[in-house]
Amino acid sequence: MTTTLTAKKTPITVAYGDGIGPEIMDATLRIITAAGAQLDVENIEIGESVYNRGLSNGIEDSSWDSLRRTKVFLKAPITTPQGGGFKSLNVTVRKTLGMYANVRPCASLHPFVATKHPNMNLVIVRENEEDVYGGIEHRQTNQVTQCLKLISRPGSERIVRYAFEYARVNKRKKVTCFTKDNIMKLTDGLFHKIFDEIAKEYPEIENEHWIVDIGAAKMADSPEAFDVLVMPNLYGDVLSDVAAQITGSVGLAGSANIGDHCSMFEAIHGSAPRRAGQNLANPSGLLHGAILMLLHIGQGEIAEKAHNAWLRTIEDGVHTYDIYKEAVSRRKVGTREFADAVIERLGQRPQTLAPVEYAKGEQMDIAARAEGNRAQKTHVGVDVFLDLPGGNPDTIADRLTKANVPGARLTVISNRGTKVWPQGNPDTFWSDHWCCRFEGTPFGADTMLAVVGAVAAAGFEVVKTENLYTFDGARGYSLAQGQ
Ligand code: NAD
Repeated sequence: MTTTLTAKKTPITVAYGDGIGPEIMDATLRIITAAGAQLDVENIEIGESVYNRGLSNGIEDSSWDSLRRTKVFLKAPITTPQGGGFKSLNVTVRKTLGMYANVRPCASLHPFVATKHPNMNLVIVRENEEDVYGGIEHRQTNQVTQCLKLISRPGSERIVRYAFEYARVNKRKKVTCFTKDNIMKLTDGLFHKIFDEIAKEYPEIENEHWIVDIGAAKMADSPEAFDVLVMPNLYGDVLSDVAAQITGSVGLAGSANIGDHCSMFEAIHGSAPRRAGQNLANPSGLLHGAILMLLHIGQGEIAEKAHNAWLRTIEDGVHTYDIYKEAVSRRKVGTREFADAVIERLGQRPQTLAPVEYAKGEQMDIAARAEGNRAQKTHVGVDVFLDLPGGNPDTIADRLTKANVPGARLTVISNRGTKVWPQGNPDTFWSDHWCCRFEGTPFGADTMLAVVGAVAAAGFEVVKTENLYTFDGARGYSLAQGQ
């Protein structure tokens, strides 16, 4: 294969991290440089030493300048200090720089790395910013806590579009969406709806949707049935680890965090402090992060060359301690020798495993599309949440009905999402957290405030209110179970 060198070097920011980080970064950079990567490297310091200087995020202000300048971050794992007061560097970098897509390819290396799934080759595209990861939580009563799950149309559109564009450019055949929209009809329902909308723009790519529980079971049992998977943040967080593990080793996987302004590439494992400084660690996970980076910056031919040489090294039985098995391995090597072995094989392709072929020159089109017309939003009621230990739905309803606010009618009382009035089931458990729904048309801010005032005046403790709206006539709120 001929290698076309890019005329210009791409600036990237590199952090060597902690523990095994410096060794695997050194090995990774040696391999991709030998493969012909055209990089202009800026080094920054992150992790333990920075935390210990008193910076709670583990990153210096000057490092942000480098990241904003290069927009590409190749990061080795870091050690997060024990104890309180420290924030996750990864979460800080992802959120601050708007890295909305987490991409994790997981392919098995049968028969060279033991796995129950010899034909597995899937990519999980996980939404990276929304869902419950806003971390917006409240304790509202003695018994009840809540976490806010936020799913937005633009956030879902760009992750779903990213998944289809990834499939198109990488010649993948199918995109599968996992949600739990049979329960979360509005949040996961929006994600699913947008998936169906965007799928229509890609008629050449097969698409399907699974409810996440049975989908996850299917993925763990028959991962070869999947190709590209796209899902909201929490499901993706859990299932991308499952997928990496069932290839045979989490230690081999890399991941990309993609944003409009800056993207970060890394191994999925941590800094393995016990293995540090002994020339033992497997650099493959970070090498895969670097391969994703090369693809991202348009050096696909270099990525292909490095990846195929790595596959050949694995096939030739040159293995670090973590994947070494007497039956299939030929040489047990350290980090440096493993990198040397990959470099020796640059230009070779695997003979048993499928070689990779990365598209040349194909760019993903992930630009946001124009927003559609805004829906007509109509205020139709309010949910008033109460903290009331030992409450009884009939008594609550009686007192609230007597409070009588013109234009607002008490329609239902629920407890943790289940209807308890009118005609509740005597077997339903009542916590101290009650939701009283008032509806009326028209229902404006004045009515809402009058309702809250009347409920408080009736002697109840209001812990939260949630307005009820319709959008173009469609209900923008859930019904209680049993309603
Ligand atoms: P870990 O991934 O570092 O180690 C888990 C196990 O896998 C250990 O037995 C380790 O020796 C082995 N291992 C990991 N990477 C390996 C490699 N490349 N080659 C060979 N063996 C490897 O997880 P941990 O022990 O839970 O965490 C250690 C530190 O890493 C903690 O401080 C944690 O906060 C941090 N961490 C950082 C990141 C990151 O920077 N992205 C991710 C996870 C954990």
